[in-house]
Amino acid sequence: MSFADLGLFAPLLQRLDELGYRSPTAVQRATIAAVLKGRDVLAAAQTGSGKTAAFALPLLQQLSCAGPRVAANSVRALVLVPTRELAEQVQQSVQRYAEGLPLRSYAVYGGVSINPQMMALRKGVDLLVATPGRLLDLYRQNAVGFAQLQALVLDEADRMLDLGFARELDELFCALPRRRQTLLFSATFSESIRQMAGELLRDPLQVETSPRNAAAASVQQQLIVVDKKRKSELFLHLLRRRGWGQVLVFGKTRKGVDELEQLLLAQGIRADSIHGDKPQPARLRALQRFKDGQVQVLVATDVAARGLDIDQLPLVVNLDLPQVAEDYVHRIGRTGRAGATGQALSLVCADEVERLLAIEQLIGQVLPRSEEEGFSPEHRVPQTTATGQLLKKPKKPKQKLIPGAGKAPGKGKVHLGNWFEDDAAPKVRAVRKAPRFGK
Ligand code: AMP
Repeated sequence: MSFADLGLFAPLLQRLDELGYRSPTAVQRATIAAVLKGRDVLAAAQTGSGKTAAFALPLLQQLSCAGPRVAANSVRALVLVPTRELAEQVQQSVQRYAEGLPLRSYAVYGGVSINPQMMALRKGVDLLVATPGRLLDLYRQNAVGFAQLQALVLDEADRMLDLGFARELDELFCALPRRRQTLLFSATFSESIRQMAGELLRDPLQVETSPRNAAAASVQQQLIVVDKKRKSELFLHLLRRRGWGQVLVFGKTRKGVDELEQLLLAQGIRADSIHGDKPQPARLRALQRFKDGQVQVLVATDVAARGLDIDQLPLVVNLDLPQVAEDYVHRIGRTGRAGATGQALSLVCADEVERLLAIEQLIGQVLPRSEEEGFSPEHRVPQTTATGQLLKKPKKPKQKLIPGAGKAPGKGKVHLGNWFEDDAAPKVRAVRKAPRFGK
């Protein structure tokens, strides 16, 4: 099947040819013709599957062929996205696809000055990409109105709910005309997403181009067990030893991300970071430098986990496992995109075993594990099983302790390991009992 078979018109076909898109991806095959006919769509699409083009191409065609010219402070199609980075990225894709069409597109998001956005909206925008909070601000200040709105896209709808945008979304939905086309894209389908779809969509075409919560088959996943305090050191060792090229590294906390970045910079490695404490321009700059190849290692919190499209990224490393298992799928989805192969490596310590279990249950597989020579963990990471349980270690016979000979009873025999964040360690003396997992 070709793009022409889907009903796309000549200017877009020519543009796709220039961009080197030879044939539509699965989600594009499933949705483009229906969107062109004006149908609502509910799509579960794997990250990196080409879903931006799946909604942008038919909407750009509709906007070019039908409807009035856009009025001042108006929008004709609205794409809501969860993060600023994704807003920029979707807008860049839209601009690429729309080159040569008489349409204006623009992106608005928080963390940067609102004034240039108000100025840009004055002339009206055919296709606006927006994060919910900033769009609501602009709407309340009458910088944008929705009387001309023909189409609404909710991109990464699950992430928008996870980030707590439900209230903003409700307020925005009330401001939109009821007669419109609505397309909802989500990587995962939770109950709340289904409920939202039930309220917003009319007789939608349901599209599921990949098994739920699946990572792309093109991503090779593995883990290395290591002690928590040696993770950064191991990362540096692997980077050198394995001669890694560009790597995207995910850390749990802003502090951890900053620390790894500083360690890498101190070693003369070109590194940058993205996390919620950094101002938006610095975040975008870091991403752009990474995309341009000026930075070898980009260290990020989950701010960067979803939706980002980085060309030819061969490797994603999880310095820490994410708190929410679904984020694992999104993180590793940064590699192995658009048919390329990729590698995802997680550095896992003993106190992350519950998270590991949750991830393995979600993706339905036990991740192959190994140890790196010189980095064998002192704190054992219990073996997991395909049924999402821990393999119990056979009990060792108890050793008799002779008071006065060697160590005193209760000292130094069994230790707790790093079961607490350093700053959250209990003040009381530890009870000498090893933590137990499983049932
Ligand atoms: P997305 O899932 O929309 O973020 O897209 C992932 C990547 O696939 C982007 O780099 C797109 O430029 C690329 N892409 C999308 N559709 C196609 C296609 N039909 N052929 C080749 N590359 C594509």
